[in-house]
Amino acid sequence: DSQLRSDVRNDNSPLQIFVKAKKRINDIFVDIEKYVEETVEFMTSLQNDRNIVTVEEAIKVKAYIDKIRAIKDVLKRDHMKVAFFGRTSNGKSTVINAMLHDKILPSGIGHTTNCFLQVEGSDNGESYLITEGSTEKQPVQSVGQLGHALCKEKLCESHLVRIFWPKEKCLLLRDDVVFVDSPGVDVTPNLDEWIDKHCLDADVFVLVANAESTIMVTEKNFFHKVSTKLSKPNIFILNNRWDASASEPEYFDQLVKEQKEVRAQHQERAVDFLSRELKVYSPKDAEERVFFISAKETLQARMQEQRGQPAHNGALAEGFQNRYFEFQDFEKKFEECISKSAVKTKFEQHSQRGKHIAMKIRQALDEILERTQKMRSEQLNIKKELHDKLNFTEQQLMLLTQEMKDKIHHMVEDVEQKVSKALNE
Ligand code: GDP
Repeated sequence: DSQLRSDVRNDNSPLQIFVKAKKRINDIFVDIEKYVEETVEFMTSLQNDRNIVTVEEAIKVKAYIDKIRAIKDVLKRDHMKVAFFGRTSNGKSTVINAMLHDKILPSGIGHTTNCFLQVEGSDNGESYLITEGSTEKQPVQSVGQLGHALCKEKLCESHLVRIFWPKEKCLLLRDDVVFVDSPGVDVTPNLDEWIDKHCLDADVFVLVANAESTIMVTEKNFFHKVSTKLSKPNIFILNNRWDASASEPEYFDQLVKEQKEVRAQHQERAVDFLSRELKVYSPKDAEERVFFISAKETLQARMQEQRGQPAHNGALAEGFQNRYFEFQDFEKKFEECISKSAVKTKFEQHSQRGKHIAMKIRQALDEILERTQKMRSEQLNIKKELHDKLNFTEQQLMLLTQEMKDKIHHMVEDVEQKVSKALNE
């Protein structure tokens, strides 16, 4: 049943735009590789045949095979990258865990993320981590172990620890989404270094804000910096902890009214930030990028579902269902956005290079064709010249023969006349 559910979701997921495009562009490069290999074979055969192709030409075309293989390697590793920012304890790790349907990243007190953590899918069901500058796979079986491993390491704030988690455990990982959790933007950050090291290839940025306060200057500054380095970054704003004020049912009516006002205020400020300050969206589009969620509730609900129990066990706070729907709505818009963006940023370059290679190969073949055509017409000319010469000689001969014939004829007539005259006399 759960397999069926995940298949249905998988088919409908907008992430498939990226997954299918990746497959398609890979197939195209497989074709190009075959085509170039055949071209090299063909050119080598011509090299031995009357020097139609030079050694240099064949070497030049052969070099494209390595280029194509290098592109295929990069393509294999191409993924969709989402990076999470916000102040410490706003819930960045919890949002990532909720999206992964599992407690993968350590969160909460004592687990402040003090370096960059990247979660990506691993093959063969393995889970391990690799610290920056090392190639050693450190096996990780549980969150506790991961937290312990991270504490043990002396990690610099801009360092990256890559966490590999089995692809089959999560659809987002299987579809090549890579998550990056950052240290809080309030942790004496060297923003420039952060951005250069970890953000330039991010397809989507998520600001995890705390719905209990307003977006802080440090959080805004970070995104101002990002938008000077990247033209029109894709940014989502999650007002997290939207459940926090919903736990006192006796003031329910009052609370609903207050929540509406608070929401409108947060919404207006977030839209203003994205549209007027950063100028990355129109106010209308910015509306679609702001969400009010509870990562903690969503994670709890999903872990319940994983265990085969209903998401809502009755003890959850008021408005849970709406917040859960809003989280799912965020995920849908996020998936659409990240897959389209990644197709563009990752594959546009590949397809340009693929086209360039195809054009170069064609040029090389066109040159060979032109050369052989020239050789052919030269040979034809020589033949024609010979042919014309022969014709002329033949004609001359014919004329000559005719002349001779006439001459002989005359001579014979002359002789005859002379002979008959002599006889008569
Ligand atoms: P990070 O430092 O931004 O990665 O924050 P964490 O994900 O570690 O979360 C910090 C604390 O806030 C943890 O104890 C979480 O359980 C809690 N938390 C995260 N999201 C929510 C939420 O939506 N509602 C509530 N009430 N608590 C949350």
